[in-house]
Amino acid sequence: MNRVYNFNPGPATLPLPVLEQAQQELLDYQGTGMSLLETSHRSKAYEALNREAEVRVKRLLGVGDDYRALFLQGGASLQFAMVPMNFLSAGATADYLITGSWAEKASEEAQRIGQVHLAATTKDEQYRRIPAPDEIRLSDAPSYVHLTSNNTIYGTQWPVFPRFGEVPLVADMSSDILSRPFDANQFALLYAGAQKNIGPAGVTLVVIRQSWMDQAPKTLPAILRYATHAKNDSLYHTPPVFAVYLVNLVLKDIEERGGLAAAAERNQQKAQAVYGAIDRSGGFYLPHAAADSRSLMNITFRLPSEDLEKRFIGEATSAGMVGLKGHRSVGGVRASLYNAMSQEGCNALAAFMDDFARRAG
Ligand SMILES: *Cc1c(COP(=O)(O)O)cnc(C)c1O
Repeated sequence: MNRVYNFNPGPATLPLPVLEQAQQELLDYQGTGMSLLETSHRSKAYEALNREAEVRVKRLLGVGDDYRALFLQGGASLQFAMVPMNFLSAGATADYLITGSWAEKASEEAQRIGQVHLAATTKDEQYRRIPAPDEIRLSDAPSYVHLTSNNTIYGTQWPVFPRFGEVPLVADMSSDILSRPFDANQFALLYAGAQKNIGPAGVTLVVIRQSWMDQAPKTLPAILRYATHAKNDSLYHTPPVFAVYLVNLVLKDIEERGGLAAAAERNQQKAQAVYGAIDRSGGFYLPHAAADSRSLMNITFRLPSEDLEKRFIGEATSAGMVGLKGHRSVGGVRASLYNAMSQEGCNALAAFMDDFARRAG
């Protein structure tokens, strides 16, 4: 077996023990004589793991009975629409903090439903930084405030989350969910496509405060209502059984490795290795993110020319480090260091960066 260091932005690297357990259980899931891929979502086996996954999410996030964890489909992109469909009523305004392309997309979907107020943006600085608390201007009585915790494309991350008292706070946490401790009770709703930090593509985690859930307009179709999915324990329609199974294994892996505090410690060390190579390159590698807004998950930087960037990515690939090409909208290099990326992989990338800068700089 020859596994590469996989820096892909998503779908992304998964923990090896998770893949191995899935491989081992693929043909005969826990003595049922069949694969989970062939198993009814109404089976005892699936119901147990579905319940277990919800319990694990809530335990890791430290939220209690007033929250539900749901496993939905449609990606984070469906959440861009579902959030305003459920919570932005006619005549009301929702506030969006615009820190990158995904935040823009989320606000554009909300604009199709109701009024949107841009409460802060750093677009005119190419999204290099997260706005400071005193730059945020809320509207008079927003239905909710929406933020993007980690900006996957630009490589910035909220260092601490703003607080707005009683106003419900919603977060797209697709690219840093369960990578560090935070006060989840501060959020009325958070969501994340699983394919970056917690599993494969095809399932989206939604964590929602129960008391907020019932406000959806009566005309909203059942499948688009959070309350429908909560009432049915994410089994309103056929869930992505195998994807939820893998998410549950990833959650177990996070718990066994010490929970969110330990994950944050590892993620700090990993990011430090790669930012270290940027910072000692004497300007050869130009980081996109401002120092105080640097993401621990996605590290974005340019080289002196596009030719050098091509060479860098080509040579890295030959050396067993893949997925480093920056997003097509910004170019350059992006190293995604999600939970499952190892310290070893980050050290290898940093050593390659040192060497490349010496040879080409
Ligand atoms: C990847 C990503 C998305 C899009 O997720 P889909 O599951 O493809 O809809 C949304 N928001 C953020 C922050 C992302 O990183």
